[in-house]
Order: sequence, then structure tokens, then C-alpha cells
Amino acid sequence: LTLTGEIDPRLPKALKGDPRRLQQILMNLVNNAVKFTESGGIHIRLFLTTPTLWGLEVRDTGHGIPENEIEHIFDAFHQVDRTPTRQQGGFGLGLSIVKQLVQLMKGEISIQSAPGRGSSFTITLPLTEEDLEMKRAMSHSALIIEDDADLGTIFAEALRSAGFEPQVIRDGAIAQRRIKEVTPHIVILHLHLPHVDGSPLLAQIRSDGA
Ligand code: ADP
Repeated sequence: LTLTGEIDPRLPKALKGDPRRLQQILMNLVNNAVKFTESGGIHIRLFLTTPTLWGLEVRDTGHGIPENEIEHIFDAFHQVDRTPTRQQGGFGLGLSIVKQLVQLMKGEISIQSAPGRGSSFTITLPLTEEDLEMKRAMSHSALIIEDDADLGTIFAEALRSAGFEPQVIRDGAIAQRRIKEVTPHIVILHLHLPHVDGSPLLAQIRSDGA
């Protein structure tokens, strides 16, 4: 079995919360994923869903959960296969505890599963005002001044995955106004632009001391 992980670079570098609760949630989900997966792997993903919600997904390539079982899966003592020869052990309490912890943290949990193919448990939790403030304080803005839409998207993707918050502007005159309002940490500038060319923009950026 492989265990892999991934963290969305748009998430704040630190989150305010109860580490013991989060640890218990993660341990229960990962334990289950390991218990019910014979081959393949387990993937843990932390991501931003909306600007004010973050998510934690534990995905496995295990034997999955039949559709008619999904609605009971969070009930205490509920196990999908209750035969005495059941090898995996456990009491059927893990997921009911996970659900209660998620609710205490004002979050939500959902499951997607395909029998024989695997399961995915996703938790979404609200970002606190403190988290958002920290994100704002630590975020690095980037201005991409580029009239080619495809190139703009490629630059934006690359900068986003490096932790920047990019904004793409396709017109020289709009860029000229925007540069006066914000001080970006990084600027990618195309020299041939509609309305105002790149060279005077570059001079303007330099004279602003950016
Ligand atoms: P336990 O693991 O102790 O049985 P849980 O409440 O954690 O109790 O899980 C309840 C049941 O849900 C398990 O017995 C199993 O049948 C099913 N289940 C939980 N997680 C998974 C998973 N990742 N893949 C397949 N089945 C799962």
C-alpha cells in the first residue's frame, strides 16, 4: 500500500483549531482506509473549497461501501460485514466518533464510494476569521499583464501552485490603473499590449519602487 499526501498551496500556512480533534478524525479515517484496502493506496488531500471553507479528503482504493450501507455508516456499532469471521476487527465506533467531532467543529462529512474500487471521505470545515486574516497577511499577490488569454492562464496556474494569488490583466490601460492601487510581490509583463504598451508600464513600476 502507498500513502501519499497533497496540500493546496492556497490554504493558509497555519489553521486555528483543536489539533487533538483533527488528529482523531484523521487517524480514524486513515486507519479505516488501511484496514479496508488490500492493494493500491491511500491519498490524503487538504484543500480550499470556497474562500471560507477548507477540506480534508482521505481516499482509498479498497473494497468500497455498498450504496445501501452508506446512510448507516455513521451509526454507532454499525459494520458492513458482521460475519464472525470478519478479519478487520474494530467495534464500529470510529465513524460515529468522526461524525460527532466534525459536527462539534461546525463542519460536514460526506462519502463517495464505489464497491470494488474504493472510498473517499471528505470533511469540510470553516476557516476562522483568524485563519483568513493570517492568509491575507501571508499571501503574496502577483500581477500578470498579458493579453494572450492562454498564456495568462498558464502563468496564473504556475504562480497559484507556488502559493501566489495571481490576477491576470489583458489591457495596458487597465494595468496602469491597477499598478497604482496595489503593490504586487511579483509582476509578469508582456511588452506588446493593447492601449498602453509594456515599456511605460515597466517604467511606472520601477519608479514606484516596487
Ligand atoms: P470499525 O472500523 O471499528 O468497524 P467504523 O465506524 O470506523 O468502525 O466503520 C464502520 C464500518 O464502515 C466498518 O466496519 C466498515 O465496514 C465500513 N468502512 C469504514 N471505512 C471504510 C473504508 N475506508 N472502506 C470500506 N469500508 C469502510
